[in-house]
Amino acid sequence: MSRTALRICPLCEATCGLTLTIEGSRVTGARGDGEDVFSKGFVCPKGAAFGAVDGDPDRLRTPLVRENGRLREAGWEEAFDAVAAGLRPVVERYGPDALGVVLGNPNVHTMAGALYPPVLLGALRTRSLFTASTVDQMPKHVSSGLLFGDAHAIAVPDLDRTDHLLLIGANPLESNGSLCTAPDFPGRLKALRARGGHLTVVDPRRTRTARLADRHVAIRPGTDALLLAAMAQVLFTEGLVDLGGLAPHVEGIEELRAALGDFTPESVTAACDVEADEIRALARELAAARTAAVYARIGSCTVPHGTLASWLVDVLNILTGNLDRPGGVLFPLAATARTPRPPGPGHGFALGRWHSRVRRHPEAKGELPLAALAEEIDTATEEGEPIRALIVVAANPVLSAPDGNRLDKALGSLDFLVSVDPYLNETSRHAHVVLPPPPPSQSPHHDFAFNAFAVRNQVRYTRPAIPLEPGRMAETEILARLTLAATGMHGADPGAVDAMVVEQALGKAVRDPGSPVYGRDPGELAASLTGGTGPERRLDMMLRLGPYGDGFGARPDGLTLAVLLAHPHGIDLGPLRPRLPGPLKTRSGKVELLPAPIAADLPRLRAARDERPAGPVLVGRRHLRSNNSWMHNVPVLTGGSNRCTLHVHPEDAARLGIRDGARVRVKGAGGELVAPAEITDAVRPGVVSLPHGWGHDRPGARLAHAATTPGVNVNQLLDGTLLDPLSGNAVLNGIPVELAAAP
Ligand code: SF4
Repeated sequence: MSRTALRICPLCEATCGLTLTIEGSRVTGARGDGEDVFSKGFVCPKGAAFGAVDGDPDRLRTPLVRENGRLREAGWEEAFDAVAAGLRPVVERYGPDALGVVLGNPNVHTMAGALYPPVLLGALRTRSLFTASTVDQMPKHVSSGLLFGDAHAIAVPDLDRTDHLLLIGANPLESNGSLCTAPDFPGRLKALRARGGHLTVVDPRRTRTARLADRHVAIRPGTDALLLAAMAQVLFTEGLVDLGGLAPHVEGIEELRAALGDFTPESVTAACDVEADEIRALARELAAARTAAVYARIGSCTVPHGTLASWLVDVLNILTGNLDRPGGVLFPLAATARTPRPPGPGHGFALGRWHSRVRRHPEAKGELPLAALAEEIDTATEEGEPIRALIVVAANPVLSAPDGNRLDKALGSLDFLVSVDPYLNETSRHAHVVLPPPPPSQSPHHDFAFNAFAVRNQVRYTRPAIPLEPGRMAETEILARLTLAATGMHGADPGAVDAMVVEQALGKAVRDPGSPVYGRDPGELAASLTGGTGPERRLDMMLRLGPYGDGFGARPDGLTLAVLLAHPHGIDLGPLRPRLPGPLKTRSGKVELLPAPIAADLPRLRAARDERPAGPVLVGRRHLRSNNSWMHNVPVLTGGSNRCTLHVHPEDAARLGIRDGARVRVKGAGGELVAPAEITDAVRPGVVSLPHGWGHDRPGARLAHAATTPGVNVNQLLDGTLLDPLSGNAVLNGIPVELAAAP
């Protein structure tokens, strides 16, 4: 007997609603949920393969504990005893910073990953925090923090209403969108063109997205900030700046005009390899459009001027009056967001409140660069203790961080490593304890993170589609117990973690005059929460305190968990609306157009106008059937065009004597590798491209299918020293390499 169940897809940022077919305790099929209020039936090949991802036979079913150098299966109690015994002595002897925490990208794709790591970090008080953000979008957080006073205030393009979309370093036809949650992103782009809108793509590769565009600008990698600065300069010099309704909320316009005055199109054209006339045309088209949105993603972040490029994206949106207006870029308002506070000055955003121990990298958003993790473990200094123990949650930095070989070795030297991971992968193979969460079908889902970047306000929640198998532990309970074990409370009831969070949150809300529960009894509010589990009660609390919530009775028609459960396909909360000055938390209470750290970094950008690569440079690429290193063990998602090949332009191939399919040696500052060539004019001459997340050939990992086609680890070409200085983000695109035909 088969049945169906709904599940929000966790396999990329688009958050499509799926209808799963279930036989017994197995997912045997997945299709788009046609009634989902947001995705309306859309599904991509990854979502359609949900059953294969969920049922991967290499998923660990029980914890693993290291004994006499080898990992063996163990029970949950034994595993948590080992975690407490391994972590606590390190903290007690060497202090909290000797215990590092690494959070991987899947944390933002699970409820547990959103709800528990903040509690763990708050209790540990370690400054040794590393996440996937510093090999991805940290520049955007930093630029938003500096402009708007809130690192999470990220305005997203109003895809369904805009007349003109300028996409930079983004390939949503493969990625399905990032920092812009939009199920069926490709369909939304086609709809833009069908309604007469204009799509421009800036990318050194002629991607599938670029092929859809009205205009494709094949820029030299790493020079987006120069192009954007020159576009802003054109807006100023041609009198095209028009802030519209934004004007009362913006300060620093004249300072910005002066700071960008010398970034003429002619001064950047050689560095960007884009004609000055084309730069002027880009600026004029943007200014002339009735509404327009500039949106940039990973290709513009993972470069030496990532923060400046991210800042300039919003500068262009502001100068053309497109920030915070329909058809431009708008700040979403998620159902679990804090109720907007009254406008006014905020605390602002600080960078560099502390520094890494070895190279003195400044923290950003409380994080140190992932590129510095290896040296923070393996290098002794007089500044303090190296990291001696590590908690890794859903991360595989041996593949995702620069210089995986060095990190691989460093992880092996730790006193203790605990990994929360469903697989024994290239990183968790070093663990002393591995704690495997259940497959997604056995977990509840609500998108705390991605609803904050969604192109339409909506809310959805799906309970586990399949009950927990015997012997499994819910991921929420794993992380609650890990929090207790790491903070000296091993053995306490894991439900106490949720109860403590509820008590603190409600206690704060009843003291806040702007809250709908101001002055009420927090104990009475806590008693009225509904939900079958601690995480559900927390979700109920956040919904009820949120901007659409019932305010615990103050707004009887508002959202609660019960209301959400009565709408299994979700609740549409309407299109994005203008919100300024609400999201602003700068000290001035305004958009601060030229923050001091940005102004101080402009001379470096000015100097980059004279820089040219001496040889070829490398960029990454994304494939529709892949997402980082997650799904390479699923046969239906690998093979075909999803291969770890080196894209080489025919002119470069001819010059170097490289044939299609031949082996090419690629050498970078951190090491070298050999990859098969795929000759294609989709990359511009002088640029080669390799996807990341491959390199599944290390002994001790248990990824049987991935090991049959391991690919190579592109991050091994990096030595970890190339960073965007403001954000600490690793430079992964436009890196210089040497190429040679391999024997
Ligand atoms: S687009 Fe993303 S969320 Fe939607 S089905 Fe595909 S992987 Fe899942």
